[in-house]
Amino acid sequence: MKKRVSELNNQSGIDLSHVKRVVFKVGTSTLTHATGRLNLRRVERLVRTLADIRNSGREIILVSSGAIGVGVGKLGLKRRPTDVPSKQAAAAVGQCELMYMYDKQFSEYSHTVAQVLITGDDISDAQRKQNVCNTFERLLDFGAIPIVNENDTVAVEEIMIGDNDTLSAIVASLTHADLLVILSDIDGLYDKDPHKYQDARLIRTVSGVTDEILALAGGKGSELGTGGMFTKLHAAQVAQENGIDMIIMNGRDPARIYDIFDPQAPFTGTLFKAREADEDAV
Ligand code: GLU
Repeated sequence: MKKRVSELNNQSGIDLSHVKRVVFKVGTSTLTHATGRLNLRRVERLVRTLADIRNSGREIILVSSGAIGVGVGKLGLKRRPTDVPSKQAAAAVGQCELMYMYDKQFSEYSHTVAQVLITGDDISDAQRKQNVCNTFERLLDFGAIPIVNENDTVAVEEIMIGDNDTLSAIVASLTHADLLVILSDIDGLYDKDPHKYQDARLIRTVSGVTDEILALAGGKGSELGTGGMFTKLHAAQVAQENGIDMIIMNGRDPARIYDIFDPQAPFTGTLFKAREADEDAV
């Protein structure tokens, strides 16, 4: 039976040192300034940290948002558009900029990146899903770092996954990852809205995404992204059903990612413990 990170919790922290394959998800608000332009310092630190984690022998897959947000910034639009063609056009511009930046920066650390763009119908069709899985496996065999986003330029409502929190949980399941790490602009799941209540407490571990837990999800996320706590909790449900542990942590300081794999380091975030994988999960 697969070894579970949640079984290894101890008083000094969470031991995830055995984790081999990790999916990281980074949101628009972590990657960009409020202007929509890339937060270069943060992106550089993120890439450096992920490259180092790859160097340590772990396989990594990055699910990166930001195509629409960065496209909005690059095109000089005043705000995120709401109509589908404008969003698709912004994504076409921003995805290009994102991959250019990832390619350049990962190359500095001698890593090869690969762009994987998927939509909902790549998952719902069994053959296409198998093709996506095969591609991921081969890329990881080749030692490349897959960088995944929804194919926003062609995705319309009917075929959309819709948010990258859910996409990251699907990718974690398709690649049989040991762990999903969602980097956000919040430290984790709180018992009440930390923007409104000073005494809000961070929940360290969650064993099941119950209705009570779902009720803790506030409204929508930031101006430039599409997420919020609700989509993260949905991702946690998908991850749990597929036997994958999931962490939500703040992406503000990417070096904190090292703490996940260091049992001695104090770790700040919320761990959603996996269940046995459901037979008919994604
Ligand atoms: N695929 C969208 C983008 O790259 C992001 C979706 C999300 O923020 O969840 O802009």
